[in-house]
Amino acid sequence: MNIAKTADRTVGQRAPASPAADGPDPAEIAAVRDDIRAKITRVLGQETERASLHDWYLAAALSLRERIATRWLADGRSARVTGRKRVYYLSLEFLIGRLFTDALSNLQLMETYARALRELGVDFREVKDVEPDAALGNGGLGRLAACFMESMASLAIPAVGYGIRYEHGLFRQAIAQGWQQEFPERWLEGGNPWEFERFDIGYDIHFGGRIEHRTSPHSDSVAWIPGETVRAAAFDTPIVGWRGAHVNALRLWSARPVAPLALDAFNHGDYAGASAQIARAEAISKFLYPSDETAAGRELRLRQEYFFVSASLQDILARHMREHGDIRALPARAAIQLNDTHPSLAVPELLRLLVDRYDLPWPQARRIAEETIAYTNHTLLPEALETWPVELFERLLPRHLDIIYRLNTDNLAAAERQRPGDIRFRAATSLIDETGGRRVRMGHLAFIGSHRINGVSAMHSELMKHTVFADLNALYPNRITNKTNGITFRRWLHQCNPGLTALLREVCGERVLDDPTVLKELEPFANDSAFQARFRTVKQDNKARLAGDLLRTLSLAVDPAALFDIQIKRIHEYKRQLLNALDTIARYLAIRDNPNADWVPRVKIFAGKAAPSYRQAKLIIKLINDIADTINRDASIRGLLKVAFVPNYNVSAAEVMVPACDLSEQISTAGMEASGTGNMKLALNGALTIGTLDGANIEIRDAVGADNIFIFGMTADEVVERRRAGLDASDAIAASPMLARVIEALDRGTFSPDDPARFAPIAHSLRYLDHYMVSADFDAYHHAQAQVDERWGTAAWETSAILNTARMGWFSADRTIRDYASDIWGV
Ligand SMILES: *Cc1c(COP(=O)(O)O)cnc(C)c1O
Repeated sequence: MNIAKTADRTVGQRAPASPAADGPDPAEIAAVRDDIRAKITRVLGQETERASLHDWYLAAALSLRERIATRWLADGRSARVTGRKRVYYLSLEFLIGRLFTDALSNLQLMETYARALRELGVDFREVKDVEPDAALGNGGLGRLAACFMESMASLAIPAVGYGIRYEHGLFRQAIAQGWQQEFPERWLEGGNPWEFERFDIGYDIHFGGRIEHRTSPHSDSVAWIPGETVRAAAFDTPIVGWRGAHVNALRLWSARPVAPLALDAFNHGDYAGASAQIARAEAISKFLYPSDETAAGRELRLRQEYFFVSASLQDILARHMREHGDIRALPARAAIQLNDTHPSLAVPELLRLLVDRYDLPWPQARRIAEETIAYTNHTLLPEALETWPVELFERLLPRHLDIIYRLNTDNLAAAERQRPGDIRFRAATSLIDETGGRRVRMGHLAFIGSHRINGVSAMHSELMKHTVFADLNALYPNRITNKTNGITFRRWLHQCNPGLTALLREVCGERVLDDPTVLKELEPFANDSAFQARFRTVKQDNKARLAGDLLRTLSLAVDPAALFDIQIKRIHEYKRQLLNALDTIARYLAIRDNPNADWVPRVKIFAGKAAPSYRQAKLIIKLINDIADTINRDASIRGLLKVAFVPNYNVSAAEVMVPACDLSEQISTAGMEASGTGNMKLALNGALTIGTLDGANIEIRDAVGADNIFIFGMTADEVVERRRAGLDASDAIAASPMLARVIEALDRGTFSPDDPARFAPIAHSLRYLDHYMVSADFDAYHHAQAQVDERWGTAAWETSAILNTARMGWFSADRTIRDYASDIWGV
């Protein structure tokens, strides 16, 4: 690692605190303290008196890293010796957040480190906040990958996560005059103490060129003469399981030029040419694509996908051959999971390696690949279904296109056998989409190459069978299965909500930290008023902390006793932040009409990033901020409603907001959210959900009970039905004076006096292009919000909140991972 000096302020030396009698072993605290001090001087080359917060963070992280490394090597050895099957989780995104507190918590060293730092005169909380989030992902999909890595380590399943070490993770969002602005993110700038660069591990990744078919009848292999080569360099980050059960690696690839080529140009004095070549190689791992739920469609993206897939597969096969020696045993030793279609090239790449490098005959290679690979589908949104022009494949990956054609020959023959002469079926199951320019269908590629395809909630998996994969499901029945998402409770309960965790330990015992089903033991206390009061106090403290943050960062004063109504997730039309914003306007207008009525004080909190090219989503951010401006300034409503848009939503921000939430907004258009995991985090921490029958909300309702959740709105079937009838929402608006009034206000510029026409496009789509059913669902949502008001402040609310926490145990990622392990991976 490169340890950069930052201009961080120097920490004033406080008087060392006197050691407490209880808690961690004083000898261990002293050892950690001395170790941290030694790192400051010997590794960072700094005097402790002059050390900055950043120095203390690095020193503490490095000392912890040493403890982890020892266990890590032992676990790696034992996996090698026992020959256990490994899981390889391929994901273009890992939305990790901070690692310091995660590792400390899982090793149960939090208190030890906090005290060691205190003895050095340094505040632990300030130190931990120095760590930048590792934001190598956009949202739910990347966060799922991070939760899965932590769960696999906790369950001691030998696994390697593979991805890209983006130099710049997800952009930093700032809000200027209400608009989103994007700034490059620089998580590596101050050095990354968690990664180990593996100088001995690297692979050549080829692009372009041409292929030569050999004429031998005994071999299916083909020679690929590439036009360009880059090098993949490995960086490993240890992922520590709960109670240090096991340590796995997250191996991220960084793109480098192949040295001799660049040097050659350099030696001939072509400096510009040489640096262009270097830049072209390095561009591959430079940036994370910031689009959520839309296919990127750019050549660089396809290069990223192939780069990380090829490096990972070469690595997997090299490890397999080193440890086992027989390529045919691969399915018994390796399970490769594709997180969405982004790593779909694993199918042709594995086939290429098996056929061209290991000389296996095609049918055998296909069997091995299929038994090894499985694919997780994350979305049914048409704009997210990844396809690439055949022409681009021809140019960039000629051998892979060749393999895809060969696969398709087998595939279309199977289609013909099943439904002779059925042209539609043939076209629908083909790997090549022939409508409007020939394109490779990456979802089809992943499906055809996998033995299992899973959706991420019960509803989503069912919909998959009837929509995107209806025909492939008919052709290859019984491959589709469901694995409802989960979250790691270590991060999303124990670490982010220590107050609630302490209460749970007291009531359910220490076992609750290891076994989430024990949460059920809370149920008998749900109606106990003394327990309710304690539960309430915990929530209140968490809300006070968030209120303090809002005051500091937004200069917004909110009452921690008000109902905290929170919608935090990517900004997307289908997630319907707009619906929430409209209801906020309706509430505001109603309070103004009747300021002395018995209103429930509410704080509406929004946070989330919009893809930089997503105009409508960015306009919605502006709308929320404009509404907030008007409402927060209006003294006539006596602070009964406050609106906050918290900038730069990320994992660390979520860790503060999740425990402070009373009402969790999960209001996507039914049929459009594959699962959601934010819904799980919030319910687990005792928020009540207001939500549609979509994704995992349905299973959450089944778990917590219909009385403890506010369900509203159209079902997925009704949405399909209504869309078929047209997108005009005049009927819904005519039936709802309230909605008509809100749209009017938008159209008149009530919230944008500086630019009255600003939200006219939104008003227009609410009236005539209601694809996301915002107008159609408005009244149902408004009615559900009235029920929320009615319940708030009663014992019934507390009962429901407690029952939410008590009944969310099933949504632990450990349960999800066990299901993958037994039904898909066979580990
Ligand atoms: C959990 C999480 C998400 C996913 O939220 P959804 O509500 O499921 O879309 C996105 N971003 C971050 C930072 C998260 O922690």
